[in-house]
Amino acid sequence: MKVLKFGGSSLANAEQIKKVCDIAAADPDRRVLVVSAPGKRHPEDTKVTDMLINLAQEALGGRDTEPAYAAVIDRLREIWEDLQLDATGFDEIAEDLRQRLAMPTDPANRFLDAIKAAGEDCCARIVAAALRSRGMAATYVCPRDAGLILGGEFGDGQVLPESYARLADSLKNRSEVVVFPGFFGATPDGETITFSRGGSDVTGAILAAALAADEYENYTDVDGVYCVDPRLVPEARPIPELTYRELRELTYSGFNVFHEEAVIPAIREGIPVHIRNTNRPNAPGTRIMPRRRFKHGEVVGIAGQRGFCTIYMSKLLMNREIGFGRRLLSLFEEEGLSYEHVPSGIDDISIILASDDFPTDVERRILERIRLELQVDALEVERGLALIMIVGEGMHYSVGMAAKATGALAHAGVNIEMLNQGSSEISMMFGVKDGDCQKAVRALFDEFFSDR
Ligand code: ASP
Repeated sequence: MKVLKFGGSSLANAEQIKKVCDIAAADPDRRVLVVSAPGKRHPEDTKVTDMLINLAQEALGGRDTEPAYAAVIDRLREIWEDLQLDATGFDEIAEDLRQRLAMPTDPANRFLDAIKAAGEDCCARIVAAALRSRGMAATYVCPRDAGLILGGEFGDGQVLPESYARLADSLKNRSEVVVFPGFFGATPDGETITFSRGGSDVTGAILAAALAADEYENYTDVDGVYCVDPRLVPEARPIPELTYRELRELTYSGFNVFHEEAVIPAIREGIPVHIRNTNRPNAPGTRIMPRRRFKHGEVVGIAGQRGFCTIYMSKLLMNREIGFGRRLLSLFEEEGLSYEHVPSGIDDISIILASDDFPTDVERRILERIRLELQVDALEVERGLALIMIVGEGMHYSVGMAAKATGALAHAGVNIEMLNQGSSEISMMFGVKDGDCQKAVRALFDEFFSDR
């Protein structure tokens, strides 16, 4: 049994929705479809969710909502009509949005969530109707009725544990294909509450986990997770198989096709996540699983991300000073800063963090505290650092990986500012100057992928 999730670009217009229906019809194991709201049809277009946010803001600002309401309804009606669905069926969708708009606008976040959720909700009704028009048995299911209960704040809902059993109860053993809107659930009081933006992936993973699916297919508009960002290396290819650990290392360091946090509910249950392309449904995609067979010395992916900085400090006999590390890190904790890496030597240590999290006023305060409270001998901040990561289960126990990588970087004339091998030994990280990021990624790609 498979749970499928389709992103906004897969639902942007009638033509895309037909592809979704073809995919659903092609495999009888595809029992549950989770849908996003219609996304952009072209780069300058506006996502339906953004149109709805604009609509809510007009209402909250006490302005005339009619033009923004009409824009959303026209966009959805066009899809409905292009799919040649029964003309009267659309009235229900238009009326639903009217009722949401008539809700009290205070508190604003509750109102905003009720409006934002309409994109996914309408889209699920449209997809269910489109499947039925092709003679398939399909039903729209409302997350509230199915038991998807979220706690947390409006706009940033978090699934409550009891949801899993409730969803399993209401969705298992259905004879029809279930079409379930992503991105929102209900509070214990029955109010509509959304996840953070992009949250339809989370809904899909929760349903896959609740139903103990054999696979969670996540459909998007790319062929899978690429071994390296194709904007940096145009000939990069999708990775056929990836472990959860490899995905985690790669997404951390700049892979942005797919956000691993969004699939955590599926990963916790050991359910394979299959990233696929709606526009090329026969392409193999990328399978992300708990374990995989790998070759020794094999690198699966390379990631590079700019925009980090290091705070370097040294102090004679640092290694013997009990509590130095704890006191240093607690300064960062007190300032509410999360750090990325802490490479250290005998008498020196660096803290690496994202530059955006470290504005100059915070920098001044932290440096002063380090000087005063830790009495270091030298202290400096360097900005403009890029982190490059090579990742692969096959790197574990393989001899010569660092030599190959550093050799390739040296050959390309890239100076390594920092080198760190993760304790898991499935990744190796290099700090280089921002300006060398692309050159470094290219050199490592040529070294590890040229023969594949
Ligand atoms: N439609 C929502 C958004 O644009 C959720 C999603 O697409 O996953 O953020």
